[in-house]
Amino acid sequence: ESVVPATLKASNLSKSFAGVKAVRDVSFEAPTGRITGLIGPNGAGKSTLVNLLTRAYQADTGSAHMGEVDLTRVSHHKVPGFGVSRSFQNLRLFSGLTAYENVLVAALAAGHDRKTAAAITLRELDAFDLGEVAGYRADGLPYGARKRLEIARALAQDPKILLLDEPAAGMNPSETDDLADRLIKVGKTRGIGVLLIDHDLRFVNRLSDWIVVMHQGGVIAQGTPEDVRANPKVIEAYIGK
Ligand code: ADP
Ligand code: MG
Repeated sequence: ESVVPATLKASNLSKSFAGVKAVRDVSFEAPTGRITGLIGPNGAGKSTLVNLLTRAYQADTGSAHMGEVDLTRVSHHKVPGFGVSRSFQNLRLFSGLTAYENVLVAALAAGHDRKTAAAITLRELDAFDLGEVAGYRADGLPYGARKRLEIARALAQDPKILLLDEPAAGMNPSETDDLADRLIKVGKTRGIGVLLIDHDLRFVNRLSDWIVVMHQGGVIAQGTPEDVRANPKVIEAYIGK
């Protein structure tokens, strides 16, 4: 099973909050079949950009397209139906439901019948090492498992592009490495695209085929991990604060 190639494209997106330009004139592409890293120091505008791409916020100017579809004309709750799903920097699980139920709800919401939804749920729980805790309430799981559950839930919506906002935040190094392996496997075997947002350079560098760097709301560099690592503007943005 592999998804139809498509590209999530941001064109000149901007967003201000009470005079603060959180995102300024940002353009980049995240195609299927590639892990695109989005890095930048805290406050760079990464989460705001995700909120613009998924229509949680309305852009002041610019547009976001998924393939031919103009997402700026789509309501927030319909965005996953166009192949764009996300996880949150702060967890948004149904805490009183089990791990199994959390994923099943997402698969059903994507329009699958019960039998298919159940099969997808088992696949995603297995892909993120949650099979043994499937029957546990989400709020009883260890933190790392809750982070993985949030990704499993986003994947159950059948995305062409998966947006992950700091999926490894708060994980220890071995949990982070394990998550990286699982994301590479899912991305490569299913052909989906991942937009991977993090301020942990090592994690993003290891996974990404292409990296976009934000600083103070704007894109200051993009390229291969090797190019970006050697870019003086990037080094200054990280060290010069
Ligand atoms: P990052 O995710 O890269 O750390 P954010 O997108 O969260 O950055 O924030 C970018 C800037 O926008 C920051 O200055 C932040 O304070 C501001 N900001 C983000 N969301 C809001 C909001 N809902 N209201 C007001 N200011 C916001
Ligand atoms: Mg953020």
